[in-house]
Amino acid sequence: MAVPKKRTGHSAQGSRRANWKATKPETTKCPNCGATVLTHTVCTECGTYKGQPVKLADKAAAAAVVEKPAKKTSKPKAEKVEEVKAEEVKTEEVSEEKSE
Ligand SMILES: [Zn+2]
Repeated sequence: MAVPKKRTGHSAQGSRRANWKATKPETTKCPNCGATVLTHTVCTECGTYKGQPVKLADKAAAAAVVEKPAKKTSKPKAEKVEEVKAEEVKTEEVSEEKSE
């Protein structure tokens, strides 16, 4: 075991112990609710991380919200195609009646 060569004086001992300080934890503001949160940690106020929900139920709800607009965009196209087909059928019927 290493042994100190010289005795540490009261002054050196005091100045060493004076540098022992508590460090302030790194904090940021939650992008969702604005509460003060520890960095790289889920917000304890609203349960989100980087503005995204963390609980499985919340994730499913968010996914459902995200999926709805995609369905809305796909539905009108299908309806338009059906309308066009119906119009084509009508025109064919009319042309057949005229020829006869
Ligand atoms: Zn929050």
